[in-house]
Amino acid sequence: MSVEVKRASSEEIPNLRLQEFHEVDCLETDLDMEVFVVPTISSAKIKCPHCGSSETISHGKEERFFRDWNIYEKRVGVTVDGRRYKCRNPKCGKTFALSFDCIDDGGKLTKRLRETIQKDALNNTFTSVAERYGLGATTVNIVINDELFLPVKFLTDWAQEFCDDMQSVVIPFLQQLQG
Ligand SMILES: [Zn+2]
Repeated sequence: MSVEVKRASSEEIPNLRLQEFHEVDCLETDLDMEVFVVPTISSAKIKCPHCGSSETISHGKEERFFRDWNIYEKRVGVTVDGRRYKCRNPKCGKTFALSFDCIDDGGKLTKRLRETIQKDALNNTFTSVAERYGLGATTVNIVINDELFLPVKFLTDWAQEFCDDMQSVVIPFLQQLQG
């Protein structure tokens, strides 16, 4: 089965509502969407993360890819057309990439997708959650085992073992706790 890839017209490029990025292009199939973005930060605001100097210069291209939550029921991948930078402080001189608040520490998905996955995983298998958002099962596993999530997972497991009416009472309650 061949997959038809379409390029969205400029009016059809979705707004991800991630303030750190500006959307420039989008390719989509029936199931997936790949949105191409550039960072919105102005070069004057770029600081070296090692020494804090704002004397930096562009040091080559760096593309990166992360997953975000679904849009119009399609799985969303985001490709950043980014750059590396070099610090011009003579005592430092290190190169670095920009870091983005909306991306999770592991760099593979947005923080908001992480939260969505943690909620979905209470009622679904890891494999089905991974499939729904276009992630590998390993990534989902790491997200699920996040230390903040563990207390809820622990309570859910405990309830599954000891409560008869798990599905109707305890899981909705735990989901409310999670917000
Ligand atoms: Zn520096």
